[in-house]
Amino acid sequence: MPLFQFKCPQCQKPTLLGGDGCCVNTLGNTGTTCGYELPLYFVDANHKLRSKITKHTNPPPPSANTDWSWVDTSGNYYAHRMHVIESGCVQLNLKENHLFLWSTPSGATPIANLYYGSAGTVAGASGVYMPLNSQLQNLHHFYSNHEPYFIHIADGEQLTIEQPDNSRPNEYRVCDNGRLIYSYNSVTHWGQRYS
Ligand SMILES: [Zn+2]
Repeated sequence: MPLFQFKCPQCQKPTLLGGDGCCVNTLGNTGTTCGYELPLYFVDANHKLRSKITKHTNPPPPSANTDWSWVDTSGNYYAHRMHVIESGCVQLNLKENHLFLWSTPSGATPIANLYYGSAGTVAGASGVYMPLNSQLQNLHHFYSNHEPYFIHIADGEQLTIEQPDNSRPNEYRVCDNGRLIYSYNSVTHWGQRYS
């Protein structure tokens, strides 16, 4: 399961979180544990995440002119959220210049609808796509089909994804079992593999 080494929105310190577990940082001098958990459901979500969940569980309005993907029932959305967090591999989008988690819960079988704003057509989509350039509390997924400009970076049980911090601004890092295997600079768009 990939783990996120991101800034905790509650204690404001780096924390390591996955689909379960909570932030174990201590708060100030009190010895109290932070306890922040990754929001998985609508009730746990902040306003921004709720708006994303609502968007991707409803068809686009007639006025939509950009791409829009959605599932027909919200239960599927949460199942896909867990799937991509627990089983996703890390990929790089060369067009949007960001890292994302990618999973295909039903293989090549479509699991969602994808409206192409430029063409005005709807197709099926088989992939769950979670951009990694959001804050921890806003991480959310939408749906896509695999594109030629998606590059596979890493997968495995022991992956951690580290967001940039003050010591390395703009640099995302992917580690496998604690070892740095890939870094990506979101400003220069330079990706580096380490062997
Ligand atoms: Zn925390």
